[in-house]
Amino acid sequence: MLLDCSAPVPLRMAQEGLDWPNLDAIWISHFHMDHCGGLGPFLAGTKHSVAMKGRTKPLRIIGPQGIRDLLQKVSDVNNYRFFEQPFPVEVKEIEELEKFEILPGVEAVACKTPHTAESHAIHLRDSDGKTLVYSADTAFDEVVAAFANRVDLFILECTYVRNKPIKKHLELAEAMFLIRKAHPGRAMLTHFYPEWDDVDFEKEVARFDAPCQLIEAVDGLRLEI
Ligand SMILES: [Zn+2]
Ligand SMILES: [Zn+2]
Repeated sequence: MLLDCSAPVPLRMAQEGLDWPNLDAIWISHFHMDHCGGLGPFLAGTKHSVAMKGRTKPLRIIGPQGIRDLLQKVSDVNNYRFFEQPFPVEVKEIEELEKFEILPGVEAVACKTPHTAESHAIHLRDSDGKTLVYSADTAFDEVVAAFANRVDLFILECTYVRNKPIKKHLELAEAMFLIRKAHPGRAMLTHFYPEWDDVDFEKEVARFDAPCQLIEAVDGLRLEI
C-alpha cells in the first residue's frame, strides 16, 4: 500500500524496484499537492502500462470526504477517464474513527488532525498485532499522541527545526513532546522543509532526551516492523 502519493511517487516506486503493478491500496491523508499530486499521473500511466494490462485485482483509493470529486475533477481536465482502467478502481471516502480493512488482514482507522479541513492521520494494525501510526501533516495536538499510544512505529511530521512560522505544522520540540507522550516502540521523523537541509539531524535531536530510537526518514529507507 501507499500512504500518500506525492508527484514523484510513480517514478520513485519504479526506481526503488517496488512491485507497483500489484499495488493494492493508496491512502491519502489530505489534499495538499505533496500528499496527493501523484495520483493523477499514476492513474494516467496505469491505463497504458504494459505491466498492468493483465491485472484484474482492484486498486483501492481511500481518503477523506471529497477524494472522489477531486479525482474526477483532475480526470476531467483532459478527459483522462481515470476510473476506466484495465482493472477496477474502487474509491472509498472515510470518516474519522471508522475502522476499515485497508488490505486483507490489515485494519486501519483515521483520526482528524488540525491541518486542513479534511486532514487525517492513520493507525494500522496487521494480523500479527504490529501497529503503526503515520501523522501525515499536523499542527500540535496531543490527540495525535493519544492516537499513537504504544504503537510499534510512530511516523511523525517534523516540518520545522524551531521557531515555526506557521501553526499548521510541527517543529522538533513539539514532535519530541508528542513522541514522549505516545511511548512508541520506535519513532520516525519526516516531512522536512528546507530549514533542515543544513542541520545535522543526530546533533539536533540530541538536544532532547528521546524516549526511544528516533529515525530520520530518508529516501529509499527500508524498515522491518
Ligand atoms: Zn499539508
Ligand atoms: Zn505536506
